[in-house]
Amino acid sequence: MASRVLWRIFTFTLVQILGAILGFWLDDHYFPSLASPITAALAGAVISGYVWHVLDLSNALKVMHWLRNGDSQLDGVGPGIWGEIGDRVRRLVRTHERAVALSEDRLQDFLSALQASPNGIVLLDGQNRIEWFNQTASSHFGFAPRRDLLQHFGNLVRDPEFAAYIAANDFQGDVVMPGRANTFAKPVRLSVHIHPYGGGRSLLLSRDITALEQADAMRRDFVANVSHEIRTPLTVLSGFVETLQSLSLNEAERERYLSLMALQAMRMQSLVSDLLTLSRLEGSPLPPTHEWVSVSAILDQCEHEGRELSRVLWNQAPQLVFEVQAGIEIAGYGLELHSAFFNLIGNAIRYTPSDKEIRVSWEAQADGSALFVVKDQGVGIAPEHIGRLTERFYRVDRSRSRDTGGTGLGLAIVKHVAQRHSAELSISSKLGEGSTFSIRFLPTRVKVPEVI
Ligand code: ADP
Repeated sequence: MASRVLWRIFTFTLVQILGAILGFWLDDHYFPSLASPITAALAGAVISGYVWHVLDLSNALKVMHWLRNGDSQLDGVGPGIWGEIGDRVRRLVRTHERAVALSEDRLQDFLSALQASPNGIVLLDGQNRIEWFNQTASSHFGFAPRRDLLQHFGNLVRDPEFAAYIAANDFQGDVVMPGRANTFAKPVRLSVHIHPYGGGRSLLLSRDITALEQADAMRRDFVANVSHEIRTPLTVLSGFVETLQSLSLNEAERERYLSLMALQAMRMQSLVSDLLTLSRLEGSPLPPTHEWVSVSAILDQCEHEGRELSRVLWNQAPQLVFEVQAGIEIAGYGLELHSAFFNLIGNAIRYTPSDKEIRVSWEAQADGSALFVVKDQGVGIAPEHIGRLTERFYRVDRSRSRDTGGTGLGLAIVKHVAQRHSAELSISSKLGEGSTFSIRFLPTRVKVPEVI
C-alpha cells in the first residue's frame, strides 16, 4: 500500500513537472509576450495538476458506480490506487460470498439431519409461532409445510392436555397426547416435550409412543393373565389340602382327592413349561439356516405321542392318519419344530370327538416350499375367533381347553416357531365341521431329496 501512495505522489509530481515544462515551452515558442516564463511554468503545473485530479476523480466515480450497482466487472480504472481498491473489494466480496455459501450448505446439512430424525421437531419463536418443522412433526400434528409456518402452535394443536402443559409453563417433563391421526380403532399417542432456549424461543420434540404404550399394556395384561392362570389351580389345590387336613376321609376319597390335586399340579407344570418355551423363543437367536433336521423323524415321535394323548384323553384308539413324505429336511431347531407340530396335533386331538378323523400331512410343494397340515373333523371355530387364536391365553372354549389340559399358549408358540423359521401359519375352520391348521416353510429352509 505504501508503494502505491509513493507512486501516486510521484505521478502527481511528475505530471506537474511535465505541465510546468510544457507551459515554459509554449510561452517560449508561441506566446513570449503573454507572460514571464516562470508564470507560464507555474500555470502549466497548476493546470496539469487540475487535469490529474479530474482524471483521478473520474476513476473514483467509476469505482463508486461499480460498488453501487454491484457489477461483476470493474473496467477502465487502471492499475493505480483505485484499481487496487477495486481488487481488494472484489476479493473481500468473494471471500464473503464463499463464507455465506459455506454456512448455507452447513445450514442445509443441519436441516437435513433434523429432517431425517425419527422424532418430530418444531422450532418456535418467542411468541410460540412455528418457524420450522420436520416431516415427522408434520405427520404427528397434521401441519402443512407452507400453510402453517408462522402460525401459533397453540392455534393448530388444540388438545386440552397440551393446552394445560403450556399453561403450567413447567417444561421439566413431557406431556402425552393423541396424535393427529388418532382414531378409536387405531390410537396414536405422542409424547411432546418443550425445551426452551435462547431469546424466548423453544424446541418442541414429539415422539410416537403408541407401540411403547401398547407393549406396556400387553405386558400388564400378560402378567394379569399368568397370575390368574396360576391362581386358579392353586386355589383348587389349597382347597383340597385344607379338606385333607380337616376331614377324616376314607381311602377311596383320599385317592380321589390326591388324583385331582395331581391334575392341578400338572396344569401348573404345563403352564410354566409353555411360559418357559415362549420366553426361550423370544430370547434365543434365530434358528440356523445350515443345520438340517429330518421332519419325518419328528413326525414319527409326534404320531407316537399323539396316540398316547388320545388314549389318555378319550380312552379310545384315535382316528389319526399320517401322510408323511420321507426325506424332507428343514433348516432350524428340531425341538422348536417338534413343539409347533405337536401343539397342532395335540389341539386337533383335544378338540375332535374320538370317532372322527384327524389327518396329518407333510409334503414338498412344486415351488420348493413344504407344507405341514393338520386337518380335523372336530368342533371347528367361529370366524370371529380365528384372527385372535394366536394371542396368548386366547381361548374359544375355556372349559374344554382346561379340561383337556390346555394352557391357552399353544398357538402362540406355534406362531412364534413358524415366524422364526420364516414359515407362515394359516388357519381355516368351519364351526361344527372341523379345522385345518397349516404351516408353509419357504424353499430357503427346505431340502427335498432329489428324485433319481
Ligand atoms: P389351548 O391350550 O387352550 O388349546 P391354544 O393356543 O392351543 O390354547 O389354542 C387356542 C384356542 O384355539 C383353544 O382354546 C381352542 O378354543 C382353539 N383351538 C385350537 N385348536 C383347535 C382345533 N383344532 N379345533 C377347534 N378349536 C381349536
